[in-house]
Amino acid sequence: MEQRLLTPGPTPIPPQVREALARPIIHHRTSQFQQVLKESEQGLREIFQTKNDVFILASSGTGAMEAAVANLLSPGDKAITIQGGKFGERWTELCKAYKAVSIVVDVPWGKAVDPKVIAEKLNADKDIKVVYATLTETSTGVDTDIKALGEVVRNTSACLVVDAISGLGAVDIQTDNWGVDVVVSGSQKGLMLPPGLGLISVSPKAMKLVAESKSPRYYFDLKAAKKALDKTDTPWTPAIGLVIALNESIKIMQKEGLQNIFKRCKLMGEAIRSAAKALGFTLFADANCMSNAVTAINVPVGLDGEKMVETMKDKYGVTIAGGQSELKGKVFRAAHMGYINKDDIILALTTMETVLDEMGYFTQHPNIKKGSGVAAAKKVSG
Ligand SMILES: *Cc1c(COP(=O)(O)O)cnc(C)c1O
Repeated sequence: MEQRLLTPGPTPIPPQVREALARPIIHHRTSQFQQVLKESEQGLREIFQTKNDVFILASSGTGAMEAAVANLLSPGDKAITIQGGKFGERWTELCKAYKAVSIVVDVPWGKAVDPKVIAEKLNADKDIKVVYATLTETSTGVDTDIKALGEVVRNTSACLVVDAISGLGAVDIQTDNWGVDVVVSGSQKGLMLPPGLGLISVSPKAMKLVAESKSPRYYFDLKAAKKALDKTDTPWTPAIGLVIALNESIKIMQKEGLQNIFKRCKLMGEAIRSAAKALGFTLFADANCMSNAVTAINVPVGLDGEKMVETMKDKYGVTIAGGQSELKGKVFRAAHMGYINKDDIILALTTMETVLDEMGYFTQHPNIKKGSGVAAAKKVSG
C-alpha cells in the first residue's frame, strides 16, 4: 500500500520532483552540473531569504547542524543552546561532542523561548560566541519568534544560528532582514525531496568564526565548501541526483511564491487544529507559538494514541507521527508543510475519524459526532 505521509519529515514528493529523481546520472565535474549548482544556489538564496552563501552538503539535516557547531566553535568556547524539545537538545549534545561549553536555556516543552532571557544571558557574559535556536521545534509543534531573537543577538558579538530543518519553506524566516547568521535545513521537509541534503547559509560575521575555529573537522569543513563554491563546485562528490531534483522543488516553490506557501501552511495548520478541537482534543503547544509547519495534538485520556496512529498507517495507508522521547504516547503530530495539501489533510482526518470510530471513541463520547472534525477542517480550509 502506498503511504500518504503527513509526517514532519519525510514529506510527500511532487511528481515533477520524482521525475527528476528518475533521470540518468550526470558527472559532477562538468559545466552541465555547474549550471545545475548555479541554479540551486540562486533558488536557495531566495528560499533562505539571504544574500549569504548556502552550502549544499550530502547529509541529513543533522549533518548541517554538526557543521554549524564544528565550524563556529572551538573547544572551550561558550554557546547558548535553547532547548524546548528534542531538537533543541540536539544543539546541546553537539556542543558537548565538540567540547564547547553550552549554557542551556531550558524552555518548557510546548512553549517558546522568551527573547529577554537570551538578552540577559548575553549581557551577563560577553564571551558567548553563538546562540543556537530552533525555528520549528518539530517534537512539540512550536515556532520560535526568530525576528525577536535576531533583535537581541544582532548588536552583540555573538552569532545567531537557527535550525530551520522543518521550518524552512513553511514558516517565514527572513535571514538577512532579521540578522540571522546561520540557517540550517534539510531536504526532506518543506523542500519536498527525499532525505540526503543538508543545507547551511553562513553570514560574513559567522564566516569569521569559521576562520578562527580550532575544532577538528574534515568532511564538514566550511572553509573547503566555501573555496569550492567560489568556483561553482563542491569539495566532495555532491548528491548529484538530489541537487537536480532540488531545482524542480525550487521551481514549484517559486511558482507558488514564498508568502503564499507560508499562508497555505498556516491555513492547513488551522484546519487541523479546528478539527482537533471539534473532536474534543486539546493541542500541545501554547496558542501564541503554535507552529505553522507541524501540529502536536494531545492524546486524550482513555485513547490508545499509538494504536490509533498504527491503525491509520497499517489499515488505511495514512501516516501521521506519534510523540518523540518524553512525548511518546502522549501526542500525535501531523505535518502541514511542503507538498501536503488540503486533500491530504481531509483524507487524514477522515481516516482518523474512521479509526476513532473503530476504537469506540464516539461511543464513549456521545456528544462528539463522527464527521465533525472533517467538517470543521473544511470550514477553515474552504
Ligand atoms: C527533522 C529535524 C532534524 C533532524 O534532521 P535529520 O535530517 O533527521 O538529520 C533536526 N531538527 C529539526 C527541527 C527537525 O525537524
